[in-house]
Amino acid sequence: MKITDVEVVVVRQDEVKMIGDGSQDTAVILVHTDEGITGIGEVDSSPEVVKAIVETPASHDQCRGLKEILIGEDPTNVEYLWHKMYHYSYYYTRRSVGIHAMSGIDIALWDITGKKYGLPVSKLIGGKFRDSIPAYCSVLMPETKEEIDALVAHHKADCNYHGYKFGWGALGQNEEKDVKLVEYCREAVGDNRLMIDIGMRWTDYKYALRVSKEYEKQKIYWLEEPFAPDRTPDFGRLADNISISLASGEEFGTMYEFQDMLDNGKVDIVQPDMSRCGGITMAKKIADMAYLRGKKLIPHAFKTGILIGATLQLIAAIPNADMLEYCAQETVLSKNLVKHHFKLDKDGNVTIPDLPGIGVEINEEILNKYRRA
Ligand code: MG
Repeated sequence: MKITDVEVVVVRQDEVKMIGDGSQDTAVILVHTDEGITGIGEVDSSPEVVKAIVETPASHDQCRGLKEILIGEDPTNVEYLWHKMYHYSYYYTRRSVGIHAMSGIDIALWDITGKKYGLPVSKLIGGKFRDSIPAYCSVLMPETKEEIDALVAHHKADCNYHGYKFGWGALGQNEEKDVKLVEYCREAVGDNRLMIDIGMRWTDYKYALRVSKEYEKQKIYWLEEPFAPDRTPDFGRLADNISISLASGEEFGTMYEFQDMLDNGKVDIVQPDMSRCGGITMAKKIADMAYLRGKKLIPHAFKTGILIGATLQLIAAIPNADMLEYCAQETVLSKNLVKHHFKLDKDGNVTIPDLPGIGVEINEEILNKYRRA
């Protein structure tokens, strides 16, 4: 089997709002082969930039477009192709959007391999620890107590989530509000797990320490991204001074960035995004690195059913994942881009599919309706 084309389809809802919601657009990756099997992937990044990285012609030996690197290769040599992409695009893909583009392709290559051999990706990367995973509800932080109560009531009504994460939105404006909002969240969710995602908005370490001390009283299950990802020393000293677990990693690409955050940022939970960290290939290595240090991996996934499909396959195959981030933003793409969107069962768990590959099928009608390039 040989790769014949790598297609990047830019998909975007009619209006993009300036809020922390990555499910308003996406770059769908389609890797085509001469045997008629097409691999599906997705990238949570800037879709048009991803498209350029895939399609750009070669400048020289260390600066080649990803598509040109892959044409004619056997797509089932997934790890070899990861290294080939990394090596021949080294001048521009060592981190950030180059790794994002590689991530979507990597997911698609695993999808092809699973379809070729009739196996779910979890079986190809070590086999299954579990058949389903508890889901937590991931939402943006509202401005008021009334909005928090209404949001939790809305989600409680149809799902038995195993926890709630409030992130970004109204957080990070001032100290008093950061404390008060989390008190309201605790009242709204009761004894359920409560996670708070500051969305990198804290800049002052002492501010962070004071607010985190207040959060200890609310028994926060984890505190996510209090600082920007490059402020590893501040993560480290906050971890040394509070009892709440710190979580981070959704912006990181490659194992090298996770190694620094684990060892110097001292986080207890790493959150690679399969569509940004280097794909399933890299996420498996990051899971092993976290396991070696006694830490959890709970992936970031705030996009469409394609990313959920890939994420579930990794979660199935690693010992140190205990929850699935369930994007509760209700956008047309998050709910409808794949047929048979992953839903929670009555116990708040999501079943991990045993279908070949990542187990998703694209809804062509939605893809074509919102296709922009
Ligand atoms: Mg986050």
